[in-house]
Amino acid sequence: SPMIVSFGEMLIDFVPDVAGVSLAESYAFIKAPGGAPANVACAIAKLGGNAAFIGKVGDDEFGHMLADLLKKSGVNSDGICFDKDARTALAFVTLKADGQREFMFYRSPSADMLLKESELKLDLIKQAKIFHYGSISLISEPCKSAHMAAMKAAKQAGVLLSYDPNVRLPLWPSPEAARDGIKSIWDQADFVKVSDDEVEFLTKGDPKKDDVVMSLWNDNFKLLIVTDGPEGCRYFTKKFKGKVNGYKVKTIDTTGAGDAFVGAFLQAVAKDPNLFNDENKLKEALVFANACGAISTTQKGAIPSLPDKAQAENLIKEAK
Ligand code: ATP
Repeated sequence: SPMIVSFGEMLIDFVPDVAGVSLAESYAFIKAPGGAPANVACAIAKLGGNAAFIGKVGDDEFGHMLADLLKKSGVNSDGICFDKDARTALAFVTLKADGQREFMFYRSPSADMLLKESELKLDLIKQAKIFHYGSISLISEPCKSAHMAAMKAAKQAGVLLSYDPNVRLPLWPSPEAARDGIKSIWDQADFVKVSDDEVEFLTKGDPKKDDVVMSLWNDNFKLLIVTDGPEGCRYFTKKFKGKVNGYKVKTIDTTGAGDAFVGAFLQAVAKDPNLFNDENKLKEALVFANACGAISTTQKGAIPSLPDKAQAENLIKEAK
């Protein structure tokens, strides 16, 4: 089936074993593989899709653990590089009482930031149907140039470009730098997915208002999606816009919900790139993506909780 290449960071989240405690108060941490682009690749593979990941980790136990996990998950790992000197990125994540997450990163710099243009497996990218990326790989060189070169190669080969910024403010020098950096590649994408919070950050406006969302529109886009946790998502195209309700589930950990959603949606696009032009087909894909996002919140960790196709279809059937 058509391949989706996901580009960017793969890292380890250390999450307090007890929810709601601060990093200082926490006695023990759970080691949770993550990095949004890596999660997306795993989500696609879990659904039976053809996914590859491109990125760099340290030539250390954590880096090899992550690469092995991707392979075990059925993701093509030919594009993974190992840095001899730098370490695999680590993030310490606190779940605050309101369910929001806060990140503290260990990067000095971490291996993912050191991916070089010369290390890119361009063949993989050119063969893809979709090239997916975030914004963390834009923060510093040499990874930024590698990211730009990868996008350019994808575009030239007629590959669809998919962008989920996944704003992580602590990694940028300032909020303004984040806003500018994230927007600097805005017009390149065919498809952009943002969360409500990200709309607010990027526009400084009310994300519930359609005209605020549409201020993010670019005429090169085929589709703009705004996700809103349990509420589900809204979609915006040149011709139509609307909302698709989410699913009620017993949520334990929302980490990676957006990635499960994106993976499921991209898998639908890979099978039918004309989905963008047909509102009913688009809605059907978003129903499926919402179900996958919802299921991913019912267990701890981003990758262990990713659903397969049958699980998602069951949730949709049960809710009818
Ligand atoms: P993250 O950064 O945590 O990966 P995100 O902020 O990018 O996620 P969300 O809007 O939180 O994205 O979630 C993406 C999708 O997952 C939602 O549109 C929804 O379909 C589903 N989802 C997320 N949280 C829940 C929840 N608590 N209950 C049901 N569905 C959820």
